[in-house]
Amino acid sequence: MSAFAFIKKPSILRKFSVFIIVAVIFSSLISGAIMYFYTTKYMTETKESDIKKAVEDINTVYARMYTSYINNLDESGNWVSNEGYTEYKKYYLELLDRLELYHDMQNITGFVTESDGSIFLSYPLLPNMTGIAETSGRDFMSADITNKLLYNNGEYFFKEDGQYYTGSAYDYIINSGDFHGLYASYDEDYLSITQSIAYTYPGMTEPMNKGTITLSIPMPEITRARTAVINYYVAATIISVILEIIALIVITKEITNPIRQLQNMTKQVSMGNFKAKIQSKSKDELGQLINSYNSMADALENLDMMRNDFIASVSHELRTPMTSIRGFIDGILDGVIPPEKHSHYLEIIKEEINRMNVLVNDLLNVARLQAGKVELDKKPCKVDDLLYNTAIKLEPIIDEKEINLEFDLHTENSFVLIDKPSIERVLINLIQNATKFTPNGGIITLRSEFVDDNKVQITVEDTGSGISPEELPFIFEKFYKVDKSRGLDKKGTGLGLAIVKSILAAHEQNIKAESILGKGSRFIFTLPACRKD
Ligand code: ADP
Repeated sequence: MSAFAFIKKPSILRKFSVFIIVAVIFSSLISGAIMYFYTTKYMTETKESDIKKAVEDINTVYARMYTSYINNLDESGNWVSNEGYTEYKKYYLELLDRLELYHDMQNITGFVTESDGSIFLSYPLLPNMTGIAETSGRDFMSADITNKLLYNNGEYFFKEDGQYYTGSAYDYIINSGDFHGLYASYDEDYLSITQSIAYTYPGMTEPMNKGTITLSIPMPEITRARTAVINYYVAATIISVILEIIALIVITKEITNPIRQLQNMTKQVSMGNFKAKIQSKSKDELGQLINSYNSMADALENLDMMRNDFIASVSHELRTPMTSIRGFIDGILDGVIPPEKHSHYLEIIKEEINRMNVLVNDLLNVARLQAGKVELDKKPCKVDDLLYNTAIKLEPIIDEKEINLEFDLHTENSFVLIDKPSIERVLINLIQNATKFTPNGGIITLRSEFVDDNKVQITVEDTGSGISPEELPFIFEKFYKVDKSRGLDKKGTGLGLAIVKSILAAHEQNIKAESILGKGSRFIFTLPACRKD
């Protein structure tokens, strides 16, 4: 059978597997979607804060440069000294280097813009920025972007107000998209952050809006990071789904194998092969189920053996007398038996017929009792009288074996609510058995006592042959006989104790047997106590 065969066959396990797989896929999709949303949010926020920091950084570098510019110019706008110019140029190049660094490291496009929209500096460089800038090895802005700018009088301008207007001096303007048409030639969106350059001139208290700094980063920079995270997630999910499926297959096999074995075993048992057993070391529910099945098969095997034994013994019990009856009748009819002996043989025939009668009656009794077809006429009955009177009926057979019958009664003037003839039958069967299995001179004791206010316990005890522990659990079964050769038990049918048990069950009472092989047996049963009203 292939590992996936359970998926093809309709079974509880198929439903179970489909359910688990659907649940895993569904939960992965939900957690994936949540992760996608929050990763995007987190990445965007992180990038946003990174770019804000970069904007502030550029702002600081610009302020240093601009301060140097103001300080080193005279009133007519000329450089005060060569050193002054060199200092300004140093700060200018520092600003440029910083913009280039952000570009190289994070693919950021940066603009430093005057308040009239003219672009003072950008990175990548605009074509006009060749004078002061040391251009070798530096990147120039793509024509896709310069085309979107206005070129006028040697200077580049932003076309749209929104590209260099910020409102309040310290506000950030965040733009997601093409930054008012600047990146319109590209498919991808840009995250652009613009901040004013607020400069406080010497002698002034309020800062003035000197222009803006704008840094833009293509959105794919963000989505790339997100894609990496999502890829890891998808890989982890695929690995975990594969592991779950492997685990599912292993677990499924663990469950299906014993179930299949159980199925086979049930089939075997239903065909009458009770020897079919399953091996299971597992202690879980399935292991317990297998053990119960094995015990059930044992019990069925026992029952089967008993039934076969019974059929054999009933056939034997009936065939033996019938054969002899037939023989005697033939003898009489053929004249082989002389007329003077006829009455002797007819007497034997009568006894044999009586025995068959007893057997058939016993069988009928058990069948009717077990089918619940016997009506009980329950009446209060004095316990001690019941025991004495029943024992008296059996006096002849007890005396014949010189057995001592002892009474140990603790139920003086107490009553039980019973169908008297049935319970007498119980006592007769038990005392007869005790007599049968107790050797000459032995003792039979009848005991009565209260176990609680509502129950009287009766014990029939003997000092007879006893019953082995292996046989003890079966003696109440129909047709069970310990001594199969019937040495001691010639007349037994194996039905006596089954009748006893059925009568007591009809009274909703229990019986149990205790015995030590070679020492004796004790049959203990209860009866419901009552008041004589
Ligand atoms: P039967 O009618 O053949 O006696 P029972 O159902 O009364 O059958 O008893 C079943 C078996 O239990 C008997 O064959 C006998 O081997 C055993 N048994 C019953 N009572 C006693 C006893 N008091 N001592 C020893 N064995 C007993």
